[in-house]
Amino acid sequence: MTRSTSEVDIRAVLIDLDDTLYPQSSFLEGAVLAVGGRARELGLDRDRFIETFRSVLARGSDTGHTIDTALVESGYDADEVLRLTAPLVGAFLQYRPLSLECYPRVRESLERLAQRAALVCLTDGQPDLQRAKFSCLGVDTYFRALVITDELGGRSLRKPATACLNRVSEILSIPVRNFFVIGDRPDKDVALAHFGGIGVVRVHQGEYRDKASPQGVVTVDDFPSAVDYVIETYF
Ligand SMILES: [Mg+2]
Repeated sequence: MTRSTSEVDIRAVLIDLDDTLYPQSSFLEGAVLAVGGRARELGLDRDRFIETFRSVLARGSDTGHTIDTALVESGYDADEVLRLTAPLVGAFLQYRPLSLECYPRVRESLERLAQRAALVCLTDGQPDLQRAKFSCLGVDTYFRALVITDELGGRSLRKPATACLNRVSEILSIPVRNFFVIGDRPDKDVALAHFGGIGVVRVHQGEYRDKASPQGVVTVDDFPSAVDYVIETYF
């Protein structure tokens, strides 16, 4: 950021979804159980597979190859891994949550912020899954739009690619310079704000909480604190 906060007129706040509004772990646990159910149908030891799969996901849920890694670590040989991976990945991809809960006091904070700025939920991921998560949370009334970067041109336009900022600008008819970002990930949400030349506050929670923030980035414990910061600083 090159401008001082007093010069910035914040008219829109772009808010991340996973691990910002709700704990992504709650979604992942449902997905693990769905994959476990499919594993049992395929003749695997469900409980042993689930335990191993959880430990693999705990090392990073978006690193790829989590299911085949869990199969290898469960002791299956290469032929079995080859046979079992596709149906288990299918079960993971097809899983849709029936309910998800926001972190505490998120709803009230969204209501306060929505009275002051246009809110857009900005997320990466499989579009229909991200829509299902957003819908489960029941917070759509506070948002002007849900923008899923994968719908803008595929995975290459995921955060921190800045194409999404231009898309949100079109939707809202608000210039990017009047945006602010709230999110949990330094490599996505914080980096996006830096590339876009706009302000950001990081919520220090969820799977990526142990990742260091770049120097000088405002970091708070939870989403309500992020909203307090934005309102006190800019409104
Ligand atoms: Mg996130």
